[in-house]
Amino acid sequence: MNLVLMGPPGAGKGTQAKFIAEKAGIPHISTGDMLREEMASGSELGKRVKEIVNSGKLVDDSLMIEIVKERLSKDDVAGGFILDGFPRTLAQSEKLDELMDSIDKKIEYVLYVDVPEEVIVKRLSSRRVCPKCGKSYNMISNPPSDGDKCDDCGTAIVARADDNPETIRNRYRVYEDSTEPVIEYYRNRNVLFTVDGTLPVEKVNDMVLNMIGGE
Ligand code: AMP
Repeated sequence: MNLVLMGPPGAGKGTQAKFIAEKAGIPHISTGDMLREEMASGSELGKRVKEIVNSGKLVDDSLMIEIVKERLSKDDVAGGFILDGFPRTLAQSEKLDELMDSIDKKIEYVLYVDVPEEVIVKRLSSRRVCPKCGKSYNMISNPPSDGDKCDDCGTAIVARADDNPETIRNRYRVYEDSTEPVIEYYRNRNVLFTVDGTLPVEKVNDMVLNMIGGE
């Protein structure tokens, strides 16, 4: 099953992606996570994208397409994959189609997690992540059980550098301008499934399972 997750930053794409990845036994490919790993490792690529990522702007299409092309050439995607955070522009979606054609595959489902802007701003302002294992928390609705320590690995959780109010607004504008047209692109191809991302996580999980034909 080849699946794309769409929706504004903070819609819960990562949470849903992890859920589906586990259920379906396919890899979760988050381009945001891949870029943050490069930044944390201090690689050339990481240095090149750091300023752009931290300001909430988009990394250029050709670089992102290269990164995804390379990732989709790995053996572990043979049984399917979940793309989270890509494609984010029309150019990226067209290139993804070309790439899929060239390997005789297609995107079967595009799941759009719909959440309004005001909810996004509130959610992202209280989001914290574990810098070690990547687990995500919300200090209001889903805090760790021990202060600011990750439940899974005990590391002190932090706010993402791009989760400050100004950058959050920027990211939402970028989403409206560049990424919303991608949703229309998939809607016109009849592969788009919309879920209400303001519902409780478990409810969204159920709807997602239904969509992909799970139990
Ligand atoms: P995310 O974790 O998906 O919110 O991504 C964090 C940041 O990484 C974005 O704000 C962009 O700066 C960059 N990024 C991730 N995916 C893409 C993409 N497909 N195209 C351009 N930039 C991206």
